[in-house]
Amino acid sequence: MAKMIIAGNWKMYMDIAGSVDLVAGIKNSLPANLSCEVVVCPPFTSLETVNVLIKDSAIKLGAQNMYFEDSGAFTAEISAPMLISVGAKYVILGHSERRAIFGETDELINKKIKKAIVSGLTPIFCIGETLQQREGNITFDVIRSQVVEGLKGISEADVARIVIAYEPVWAIGTGKTASPAQAQEVHAFIRKLLTELYSAATAAGITIQYGGSVKPENAAELLGQPDINGALVGGACLKADSFLKIIQAAK
Ligand code: PEP
Repeated sequence: MAKMIIAGNWKMYMDIAGSVDLVAGIKNSLPANLSCEVVVCPPFTSLETVNVLIKDSAIKLGAQNMYFEDSGAFTAEISAPMLISVGAKYVILGHSERRAIFGETDELINKKIKKAIVSGLTPIFCIGETLQQREGNITFDVIRSQVVEGLKGISEADVARIVIAYEPVWAIGTGKTASPAQAQEVHAFIRKLLTELYSAATAAGITIQYGGSVKPENAAELLGQPDINGALVGGACLKADSFLKIIQAAK
């Protein structure tokens, strides 16, 4: 059975003071008997501070990106060993904002996923179609191609260590959420594809999160779908109480 994981992508929000407040708010009201893994992904500048604050809690630390080399003359890039040294366990890779704004390709994302895995970080590998692609009835082709290219050369043993986040681009930060049925349909497709590429047992164990305007009001229904194993949350993770409500919805 895939693990239920609720992750918060803080994006380019929160300076140090804001990060301290937000993580304290989450930590102080985190239920004692969690039924999911909770991950926070602050900006690079807050990783170390947040790591210190979550030390005695169940919250895990994630980063929002990394480069595929360990070190070198790559100005402004951050490597997997650097993330590990500040306590990160997860790293978001291939987010649609990285793909659309910063031109990240499937090939680059594939290199990053491989590096994250060999380094011991869990990649949260993001995929999703644009509105134009959905309206053009090519959602499944787009998803297939992103999964096949993103996972190229990754063994069955290694793929079992990744998390996939299905994030329809038209639902990110727009307030438009995929209906539970729309999301489930794509999640089931991804699971079937993973079965074809690897095996049914491996596919069943991979966490497939949904992301795209998840909020307290829609979380329970989305998370209740058979192939949805968690959420990658943007806007609603920036307030402790709404993030906590989404965590509580993950039963
Ligand atoms: C995201 O950025 O991954 C995301 C899902 O954002 P939002 O929840 O704001 O749509």
